[in-house]
Amino acid sequence: MATCRICRGIYPQEHLISGVGPRHLVCERCGIDRGYITADEASHLYSDEIRRARMIVIGRRFAPFLWIILGWSLWSLFFAGLPLWGKASLVILLLATLVVPVMYLLGGPKYQADLRRLSTK
Ligand SMILES: [Zn+2]
Repeated sequence: MATCRICRGIYPQEHLISGVGPRHLVCERCGIDRGYITADEASHLYSDEIRRARMIVIGRRFAPFLWIILGWSLWSLFFAGLPLWGKASLVILLLATLVVPVMYLLGGPKYQADLRRLSTK
């Protein structure tokens, strides 16, 4: 690991550009910003499409937990007092709360594979 001289970010050694003088200890991102290298020479930077695709994969992985939290919040605020809808939505919420962690565990390998497919190496 090494620290970029310009942005103070800590990266693995291969994420820094090589060279002496102004190029010494500069990460690829700062190297592009300062014009030391071109975007084609940077081998560890994500393009916009890959970055977007990675965010979608990560969002798909963790969004169900946010929906569960939102669902329980809405239920306790609005539905808990209703006799019929309160019970029906409680059953749905309980099922979702039980199913989401299982789906999370089962989706782990696919998530890892997707992220690896969307990496630069
Ligand atoms: Zn930097």
